[in-house]
Amino acid sequence: MHVLIVGAGLMGLTTAFFLRRAGAEVTVIDRQSGPGRETSFANGAMLHASQANPWNEPGVLWTALRMIGREDAALLLRPRALPGMWRWGLDFVRHSRPTRYLRNFERNAHLARYSLAEMGGIRAVVGGDYDAQHCGTMKLFRTPDEVAGAARLCAQLGAWGIQHEVIDAAGAVAREPALAPIEDQLAGGLFFPQDESGDAQRFCALIADWLSAQGVSVRYGLSVLGLRPQSDRAPVVMTREGELSADAVVLAAGSYSPQLAESVGLRIPVVPVKGYSLTLPLNGWQEGPRMPVIDDHLHAAVCPLGDRLRVAGTAEFAGHDLALTPARINNLFGLVSKLYPAFRPWLRPELATRWTGLRPMSSDGVGIMGRTPVPGLFLNTGHGHLGWTMAAGAGHLVADEITGQAPALPHEVYHLSRFTRANRD
Ligand SMILES: Cc1cc2nc3c(=O)[nH]c(=O)nc-3n(C[C@H](O)[C@H](O)[C@H](O)COP(=O)(O)OP(=O)(O)OC[C@H]3O[C@@H](n4cnc5c(N)ncnc54)[C@H](O)[C@@H]3O)c2cc1C
Repeated sequence: MHVLIVGAGLMGLTTAFFLRRAGAEVTVIDRQSGPGRETSFANGAMLHASQANPWNEPGVLWTALRMIGREDAALLLRPRALPGMWRWGLDFVRHSRPTRYLRNFERNAHLARYSLAEMGGIRAVVGGDYDAQHCGTMKLFRTPDEVAGAARLCAQLGAWGIQHEVIDAAGAVAREPALAPIEDQLAGGLFFPQDESGDAQRFCALIADWLSAQGVSVRYGLSVLGLRPQSDRAPVVMTREGELSADAVVLAAGSYSPQLAESVGLRIPVVPVKGYSLTLPLNGWQEGPRMPVIDDHLHAAVCPLGDRLRVAGTAEFAGHDLALTPARINNLFGLVSKLYPAFRPWLRPELATRWTGLRPMSSDGVGIMGRTPVPGLFLNTGHGHLGWTMAAGAGHLVADEITGQAPALPHEVYHLSRFTRANRD
């Protein structure tokens, strides 16, 4: 069986990995010059099953309306993006109803847990270093009410096998001594022992190298223009250099999957949600942070990656615009200085790598995977803020479905068909 995968980001490459392991012939194509060069390039670096809750939580409509056009908002809605996303937006709000939100949260939690278990399997085969850490993550809050609210949410996670521990400010500093200068500002937080972290782009590169060594053709610099349907066979993939065909095609093109799917008449409810990151050398700061931390108040995620610090945050609905807005980047410099004031003397903005990427966000907050109504066409996209967390599990589920293996999770709930009128509740 020959499978053609469009996209050499986290989703395309993990799918290729499990397909190759199952004995399939695989080709991966990507328009960039190497693996993981778009959204999988410099994300928040956390594999956090603890953050499996969809962003469209109950009440999200009012939060979003309050933030329209506000430059300082954590969730920024640029008015120019609105006309192109009204349909997605209605569905996003529809899924914020408590019963749907909880159901989607649970789907994410099961996939995230499975995915973290599957990471070990990939690591054992591809080897190599991607600045991985297995020390858990911590989420910090500034008021006791916020700690209590988050702990209630996490009790739900516990029921799905994702553990947490409520900690006070002293407990947070004991786990991360670099927080000592702001201990008096913290009310406490939550510690999630099962979470991991690591550099997603380096992980992509390790898988891509392994695939090449296994004889998989990984072709870079090749743009897909669209798909051409065939009546009872997988669609033909039209590229700048001609047409390619295979027994099955996997669309894992991140935030660009909807445009490509449109060419075969499929509507995929995914929109880009822009985020920013900074990668800062520690410059010899010996007392630097040891563990990944999310600061709820600052809306920032800060993760040590070897001798670097990754700072990620903000969510912006701005279409496919990849401009590096200076105010947003400066905001990230401000956030890391507030979280780790002791870093200021070591912080060299001129050495920072500034980056922006587009989270492919589905309208119900759950990734869209597996078969489609188009014969031979499979999806692995829409994982939003959880793509690094879900990559190994999603890749394995999609590969199992293509090769006819029994999947570890009931995979139908992740299919595109859940959005069709007949299946909507
Ligand atoms: C700021 C930020 C922080 C984040 N932090 C985290 C985090 O801490 N934890 C977490 O779990 N997730 C995080 N995420 C989300 C995660 O990074 C994404 O969900 C994930 O990278 C998406 O992977 P992907 O393979 O679907 O998309 P991509 O990585 O974008 O891969 C898609 C690939 O398809 C290729 N492609 C697209 N169109 C075409 C075409 N026409 N022809 C050929 N090739 C094409 C692209 O070149 C690209 O390589 C974060 C995202 C952002 C933006």
